[in-house]
Amino acid sequence: MNTSDRLLHNGVVAMCPDCRDERLLVPVDAFEYCCTTCDAAVLLFDEAVNTAVRERATA
Ligand SMILES: [Zn+2]
Repeated sequence: MNTSDRLLHNGVVAMCPDCRDERLLVPVDAFEYCCTTCDAAVLLFDEAVNTAVRERATA
């Protein structure tokens, strides 16, 4: 699986506290994601991830 596939399958759209907006985040650990815009580490827990998955499912 190449990098773009990994982004498509595992990336989530969620609020980045550094960007103060929704950004595409890619997972680096169970609850830790990296913002693709500013490279900040963002911790996502169930509520945020569920929101992101729901938004992606309806896109
Ligand atoms: Zn960011």
